[in-house]
Amino acid sequence: MKFAFLVHPLSRQSVTMLDLDRDGSLLKMWGSDAMGVAAGLHGAFTRSMARAVKNRLPADALFEELGRLTSHDGSSAEGRIYEIPLDAYEILDNPDQALAFMQEAVSQATEWGARLIGLGSMTGIVGSRGEFLAERSSIAVTTGNSLTVYTALQNLYRVAEEFDIDLREETVAIVGIPGSIASGVAALAAPHCGRLLLVGRNNGTAAVRKFADQVGGEYFSDFSEALAQARIVISATSSGNCIDQHQLLPGTIVIDVGVPTDVVGSKALRPDVLILTGGLVRLPESMNSFSRVLKFHHRVIPSCLGETLALALDQRAENLSLGRHLSLDSIQDIGSRARAHGYDFSRLYSFGNPLAAAAVTRFRQVRLRLRTGRTRPLRSVAHRISTAADQHARHCNPVLHALGRSSGFVPTFVRGEGAYLYDAEGREYLDCVAGFGSLNLGHNHPAVVDALTEALKEQAPGFVQSAVNPYQGALAADLAALAPSGLEMVFFCNSGTESVEAALKLARITTGRERMLSCEGAYHGKSLGALSVSGTAEYRRPFGQLLAGCETIPRGDAELLERELATRRFAAFIIEPMQAEGGMYLLPEGFLRRAAELCRRTATLLIVDEVQTGLGRTGALFACEHEHVEPDVLCLAKSLGGGLMPMGAMLTRRDLWMRAYGTVQTFALHTSTFGGGSLACAAGLATLQILQQERLAENAAERGSQLMRGLVNLCRRARCLKEVRGLGLLIGLEFNPLPRNVADHWRASDPTGTASILIPQYDRLVDGFHVLHALHTLLNGFGIYAQMCRSNPFVLRLQPPLIVTATEIDRLLIAIEQTCEEIDYTTSLIDDLVAKTGIGEHDAAAAHPSAASTADGSEVLDVCKVFNEELPAIFATNADAAKQIGVRFQISVTGEGGGEWYVDASSSGPNVTQGNPGGADCGISIDVRDFRALYEHPQTDMVRLYFSGRIQFSGDTKKAGRLRQLFELEEQPSVTLSGERQRISSLFRG
Ligand code: PMP
Repeated sequence: MKFAFLVHPLSRQSVTMLDLDRDGSLLKMWGSDAMGVAAGLHGAFTRSMARAVKNRLPADALFEELGRLTSHDGSSAEGRIYEIPLDAYEILDNPDQALAFMQEAVSQATEWGARLIGLGSMTGIVGSRGEFLAERSSIAVTTGNSLTVYTALQNLYRVAEEFDIDLREETVAIVGIPGSIASGVAALAAPHCGRLLLVGRNNGTAAVRKFADQVGGEYFSDFSEALAQARIVISATSSGNCIDQHQLLPGTIVIDVGVPTDVVGSKALRPDVLILTGGLVRLPESMNSFSRVLKFHHRVIPSCLGETLALALDQRAENLSLGRHLSLDSIQDIGSRARAHGYDFSRLYSFGNPLAAAAVTRFRQVRLRLRTGRTRPLRSVAHRISTAADQHARHCNPVLHALGRSSGFVPTFVRGEGAYLYDAEGREYLDCVAGFGSLNLGHNHPAVVDALTEALKEQAPGFVQSAVNPYQGALAADLAALAPSGLEMVFFCNSGTESVEAALKLARITTGRERMLSCEGAYHGKSLGALSVSGTAEYRRPFGQLLAGCETIPRGDAELLERELATRRFAAFIIEPMQAEGGMYLLPEGFLRRAAELCRRTATLLIVDEVQTGLGRTGALFACEHEHVEPDVLCLAKSLGGGLMPMGAMLTRRDLWMRAYGTVQTFALHTSTFGGGSLACAAGLATLQILQQERLAENAAERGSQLMRGLVNLCRRARCLKEVRGLGLLIGLEFNPLPRNVADHWRASDPTGTASILIPQYDRLVDGFHVLHALHTLLNGFGIYAQMCRSNPFVLRLQPPLIVTATEIDRLLIAIEQTCEEIDYTTSLIDDLVAKTGIGEHDAAAAHPSAASTADGSEVLDVCKVFNEELPAIFATNADAAKQIGVRFQISVTGEGGGEWYVDASSSGPNVTQGNPGGADCGISIDVRDFRALYEHPQTDMVRLYFSGRIQFSGDTKKAGRLRQLFELEEQPSVTLSGERQRISSLFRG
C-alpha cells in the first residue's frame, strides 16, 4: 500500500538548511573549503530569513521518496514524505495558511496513489488533530498519536526497569492535559503509578476535572507546583519550550513527547536530571535505508511516522488517532502491531541521541542516593536480573556485547539445567562448553542443590578463620582418599589460578629454588604467577615483566626435559596432563611417567595441573591416573564446586606441607579468606559422591569414544576438518585454514590494514574463519553452544557435561556433520565465485567516490554515521591500535532535517573543542589518540556524530585511508553474494 507522511521544518534555520540541501548543494560545498561553506551558508541563511514565507506555495510538496519498505514479517509498503513550508511557530501563528498547504500536499499524495497520510509534528495539531483534513480528503488520515502514547508508556516502563524504580512509589506528572497524547498516557499509566498529577494550562473545565477523577489523578493548573512534587514527568504539550531544566527536582526524569520539545534547550544542563526524548521508535534492520533526506540515524523515527508506516504495512487505509480522544484499545493494538513489524521500543534517547552509558551510570547514582533512608522490601534477584542484559554490556563487558549484537554470536543465557542452557525466549542449547570444565555434573545438579540447601538450613558457618571448620575437614579427607596416593594435605582456595599460585609457592619454599619449568603452549591461569608459567604470548605480553626464572620446553620433549632438570635449578616442573586451552593437545604416551621419574631424581617437584582435566573429565577421576603417575602436587578447581560454588584446591604430600608450613611461625604463610568456605565444601562433598555414584568418569570415557569415533570418521569426509584430538570428553576438533584465495580475498577487503590493526590476531581470525562459521551455525542452527580454544583459533572445543547421553552425542555428531557440510559448500561457492568473477576485488575509488584531495594534500572523506556504537567498542578493545593510527582529524558537521544539530558533545572532555552549535557551522576536533579517554571521561555525556559530515584528515593520508576503512565498517558489507554470505560477512565484522 502507498502511504504519505507530512512534515514541516521545525525552525527557520532548518528551512534554510533544507533549502540549501534540496539539490545536495550543501553536501557539495562541504567538500571544497570550509570558509566558502561558511560564507555560502551565511548568505543563504540571511536571504532565506528575509523571504516572506507566507507567499510561498508548494508547487511540489514532495520532499522524499521512501521507496518500498519491508518489515520483520515480510509485509511491505511504499512511502513518500511531503513537506509544507512553514515552521512550527508559523503553523501555530497561522493555522489557516498551514491547513491550506496541508490540503495541497494531501491532494498531491492522493494523485500519486497514497491511501493513507500521516500528519507529522504540528500538522497533527492544527485542524482539530486531523479531523479537518479527514473530512476533506478521500484518503485516510492519522496523526500517529496512538503509537506516540504507546511509545511514551514504553519509555516510562523502560525507565522504571533501568533505574530500578517502583512506579507505585512515585509521583508522576503528566503535562499537556487535555491534549490527546497526555490524556491517553494518563489513562493507561494511572494504574501503575503512585500519585498522578495531571497538568493543564488553565483552571480546568468540568470535563477535565472529571477525567482526573476517573483516572484517579489530581489536576494542577500551576505548572511549577506540580513539578515541585513529581520526580517523573511525561510531557506532551503542543506549545513547546515550557519546562525549564533548572526548575526540576534532583533525580527527576522527564519523558518529553512534545513537538517542538517541551524541555527548553538542546542539551542536558544538569547531571542530576534526565531528559529523555519520548516519542522515538527504532525500525527493524530490514528498513536500513529508511529516509535518506531526513537521515534518521540508526532507523530511529518519530512514532507518528511509525504509526503511519505500521498501518500501511498492515494495508489499513483507515482513519486513526484523530481528534482529542484516542481509543485506549487502538493504542494497545497499534503498539502490538508495531512490535510484530519489528519496531524496537527498548532504547532510551536524550535530545534525539541514544542515551549515553555514562549518563545512565551517573543518573543511577542520583536515583540510588534518593532512595537511601527509605524503606522498602528487598527486590528479588529474579526480578532484578530480568532486565539486566544491557547492564552486563555496560558494566561488565561492552566488547562482548558489541561482538555479539552484530553477529548473533554471543547468546544471553538465563537458565541452566542438566546439560542444557536456556535463553530468555526459552530456546534450548546443549552446553558443550560446560563452564570450561566447571560443569562436569551439568547445571544445577539436584544433589548439589540439596547439599547446599541443607547446609543453608543448618546455618553452616560462613567463613571462619583460624578455627576448625568440619566442612573443610570432611572434604579434605574425601579428596585425599580419592586422589593419587600420597596426596594427603589440602589447601583450599577459590579458583584454578589460585591453586597454581599455591603450588608454585609451595615448590619455592620446600626446595629453596626459585626457577620454574613449564611447557610451551601451557595454560595455568591468569594471576601473575600462574601467567608466568603459561605459554600464550597474547595473555602475557601486555603485562610486562612477569616472574623471573620461568623457562619452557616444547610439549612432550623428554630429552630436553631431562637435560633441563639435570641442572637442578628448578623448583618445579608444572604440566597439564592434556593441554586444553592451548588447543587440546595430548602428551606423548609415557611422557608424564618419565617426567615424574626425572623430577624425583632431581628433587624437583612435579606439579600436575588438573584444573581442567580433573574430576572425571578425561575418563578417569584424574588424568594422571592414565599413566599411573603420583605427582607431588595436584591442582584442582572448576567442577570441585559442583558447578555452583567457586572452589579450588591444591593437594600435596604431608612431608612437603610440613616442610613448608609445619611450624607455629609458618602455618599461616599462605592463606585465603574465602578458601574452603562451608558452602563451597558442602558442594564439593556432594560432587565427589555424585561423580562416583553416577559413574561419571566412566560415562566420560564411553561418550568420549563415541564422539571421537564419529569425529574421526567425519574428518575423513569433511574438507574443512584437519583432525580431532582428545581424551574422554575433552575434545578438540581442528579445522583447516580458510583456503588461500578466499582468505586473500577477504584480506583484500581491508587494503588499508585497519582491521588488522584494530582486531587482534586479525590474520589468524581470517585463516581460522571456519571455526567462527561453525560456532555460529552450531549455536543458531542447531542449538549447540560451543567455543573455540582461545589460544588456538583453529580448534573447536567440545566438552559437554559428563552427564551427557548417547542420544545427545549422536545429535551433536549430526549437527557437526551438517555444519561441516555447510562450511564446505559455502567455501567452495565463494572459492568459485572469487575465481570466476573477482567479486569483491577492492576498488577504493569506487567505494569512496567522494574522497578527494585538497590543495594542502589532506584528504576529505564523506562519512555517514561517523561515530556509531561500534567505534568506541573497537577503541576500547584495542587502545594501542588506536594510538598507532595517530592522526589528528577535524570533523565539521552541520545540522539538517528538523534543525537538530547532529553533534552533541554536551560537556567537553579532553581535547574537544566545540564550535558554535547554534551557528551555521560547528567544528569539533578530536585527537583520535585520545578518543578512548574522551569516551571514558566522566564528564563526557555524548560524543557521537551522525549523518552527513566530512572528516578532514590533515595528517598522513595513508593513515587516513586506514581510518576511512574503519568508519565504513558498519556500512560496507565485505561481500554481498547471498544470505549465507551476508551472515558470514556480518560474523566477520564482529
Ligand atoms: N589451569 C588450567 C589447566 C586451566 O584450564 C585453567 C582454566 N581454564 C586454569 C588453570 C585457571 O583456572 P581459573 O580460571 O579458575 O583461574
